[in-house]
Amino acid sequence: MKDFRVYNFNPGPATLPLEVLKDAQSELLNFDGTGMSIMEISHRSAPYERVHNQTKADILSLMGLGDDYEVLFIQGGASLQFAMIPMNFATVERKGAYVLSGTFSSNAYKEAATLGVGTIAASSKEGGFRHVPTQDELSIDPNAAYLHVCYNNTIYGTEFHYIPEVDVPLIADMSSDMLSRPIDFKKFDFMYAGVQKNLGPAGVVIVVAKKKMIESSRADLPTMLKYETFLKKNSLYNTPPSWSIYMVGKVVRWIIDQGGLSAMAERNARKAKILYDAIDQSDGFYVGHAEPSSRSFMNVTFRLPTENLEKKFAAEAAENNLIGVKGHRSVGGMRASIYNAMPIEGAEALADFMNRFRQNN
Ligand SMILES: *Cc1c(COP(=O)(O)O)cnc(C)c1O
Repeated sequence: MKDFRVYNFNPGPATLPLEVLKDAQSELLNFDGTGMSIMEISHRSAPYERVHNQTKADILSLMGLGDDYEVLFIQGGASLQFAMIPMNFATVERKGAYVLSGTFSSNAYKEAATLGVGTIAASSKEGGFRHVPTQDELSIDPNAAYLHVCYNNTIYGTEFHYIPEVDVPLIADMSSDMLSRPIDFKKFDFMYAGVQKNLGPAGVVIVVAKKKMIESSRADLPTMLKYETFLKKNSLYNTPPSWSIYMVGKVVRWIIDQGGLSAMAERNARKAKILYDAIDQSDGFYVGHAEPSSRSFMNVTFRLPTENLEKKFAAEAAENNLIGVKGHRSVGGMRASIYNAMPIEGAEALADFMNRFRQNN
């Protein structure tokens, strides 16, 4: 039987590479000669530890980082990182500074504010989060514990296209664009990503941070809320989400096999151009949400002339096996998420559909 697959534009959990899914399927019943699946073996066993350590090494190598950085695997989603970061690094005297560029960065700030240790360095809320604050718009207390940015704004469809120049540690939520293109990761002290957008199934967050930064964190915290625990115990203090880590390992291998981050960047830029061209060449029928200079390569957001047409668009797209194009309720309109695993043919199929739909309506 031929596999039935659609083009899946869901924002997260999101599409995964077909090769990865098939590979996982092929070893589901007997992983590495154990006669068990990876889900059924001990996290202290050699076959699991190989997966765990290889995945960490592959992530660092793709990012061009050395052993002054460490990869941690943590549960609780990116949302728990919003709380752990200020708990570990900020104080009332040295607050964490936040750039508000969308929903998730605002949620991150909210957690710091709840603890009384957050300040705002810039915000693009007034314009409806249509752009990412520029370097000139940042106002950072030189005494801040860190600057926190959300590198790709999954809901509004905007992305940083520069790395903030700062004199304090730089922290980035890269949940929806980590490993989508080469950037100078060395400029960041601490990066994290809930993997269910671009890198795997839900269940684990990847933290990539300078060891020095982690060592500077606060010690008087519960064990599972301290980054030190994960650093000292190789993220194996308690049972890790082994299935998720195993799948991330396969996705990371797939990225390497495709030619690494520059190949990903090329492919992602092509897909984004196909869709933004369909918007820009629609005589105003489709209107992009993001200002062109802040447009995301990962989440393409746009509106149609009326909400009724938007409903019709989503329904007819689904009939054409183009799934998950409805936008987030806070922005409305449409959103096509085109992470690493989305093939170029998927973006072409959606652009063709957009052109047909415009002509028919
Ligand atoms: C989805 C998302 C989050 C929230 O992730 P959870 O793992 O659901 O907590 C945070 N930040 C960004 C940029 C996201 O896209």
